[in-house]
Amino acid sequence: MALTPATADLGPATGLVCRECGHTRDLGPHYACEECFGPLEIAYDFGGVTRASIESGPRNIWRYRGLLPVPENVAESPNTEPGLTRLVRADQLAEALGLQRLWVKDDSGNPTHSFKDRVVAVALAAARELGFKVLACPSTGNLANAVAAAAARAGIRSAVFVPSDLESQKIITTAVYGGTFVTVDGNYDDVNRLASEIAGEQDDWAFVNVNVRPYYAEGSKTLGYEIAEQLGWRLPDQIVVPVASGSQLTKIDKAFQELIKLGLVEDRPYKVFGAQATGCGPVAAAFKAGHDVVRPVKPDTIAKSLAIGNPADGPYVLDVVRRTGGAVEDVTDEQVVDGIRLLARTEGVFGETAGGVTVASLRKLAENGALDPSAETVIINSGDGLKTLDAVAPVARPSANIAPTLDAFRAAGLA
Ligand SMILES: *Cc1c(COP(=O)(O)O)cnc(C)c1O
Repeated sequence: MALTPATADLGPATGLVCRECGHTRDLGPHYACEECFGPLEIAYDFGGVTRASIESGPRNIWRYRGLLPVPENVAESPNTEPGLTRLVRADQLAEALGLQRLWVKDDSGNPTHSFKDRVVAVALAAARELGFKVLACPSTGNLANAVAAAAARAGIRSAVFVPSDLESQKIITTAVYGGTFVTVDGNYDDVNRLASEIAGEQDDWAFVNVNVRPYYAEGSKTLGYEIAEQLGWRLPDQIVVPVASGSQLTKIDKAFQELIKLGLVEDRPYKVFGAQATGCGPVAAAFKAGHDVVRPVKPDTIAKSLAIGNPADGPYVLDVVRRTGGAVEDVTDEQVVDGIRLLARTEGVFGETAGGVTVASLRKLAENGALDPSAETVIINSGDGLKTLDAVAPVARPSANIAPTLDAFRAAGLA
């Protein structure tokens, strides 16, 4: 099925390297090490990437194509063109939490309203080069939206698998794009295992987060590049990132490291913090217990987009957080709802439950002193509140319902 790697144009990518044992192999549709079954990562030879070359690029993630496993002409093929979402200065949220300088990277502004458009755009570009015919995924919801939309735009078939108890908003916002869409009676970890089994049989299906995961994961680096560029080519002191599989967090760190090595930002210390829901907080539990291994849990939380009980990149999240002096915090569902409302009320940004997890974790990290209140902090709002309306529907109500008369308005005591 797949093209021979020699004919694939994957830009600056030069090969695949095992995260565990360092064994290398040629670029191709591979995701597990032949020697030790460890996860593979992309190795690169970055040419002359400069601030100016990036700044003159398109106003989407393809401005960083010289740092991604995609062809030089990637912008010419139909894709969803995510990225360059706004970085919001959050003074009122900062004040509410006793912080001095806070920014919200608002990734709800992507084409399907979550950060998943970034990873899918890169996976689609690489999957095309590798000769795959179908774009597929197991998903907790947002990835399903992004894969179905990107495949529709690219004119190829999609095949998406989700747990059947997903938020109705995410079911509708996936089904609308057409494509094959299967709900599965099981949790995400069941769906993920099924997807791996299907991938073993359907060798021209690119399961973006399974058999092309090394390429997919690189898309998260663009969050890190953008934050640095939008701060005026500078790294923040602290960053708080939601954790599901842990890929986003580890790749933001990878992006910061690359920018330092390329001399595009000043080399100074930064701390990376992870945010989870208590009802699915295996990485937070391992961090707090001082463990290196992450013990799988059965998810039970309203933060469904983060409900991965057996996170593939969990141990690497622990490495990044410990290396940089950060922490992993977890918050209850009640705190998640409070976090969503706090962000909305203070900054006019309506995040989904994952955003609520991040804001509530920021609050807890500030309160328990893990985070320095005087240091510049960035948090990620990774998805749109319109996709998880049920979480806030009981508490987000009108102030009053009145008859259409001035008397009724006066009587309501709202003047
Ligand atoms: C998938 C997702 C995440 C986290 O992704 P990982 O890279 O798997 O840790 C965070 N927020 C939202 C809204 C997501 O959909």
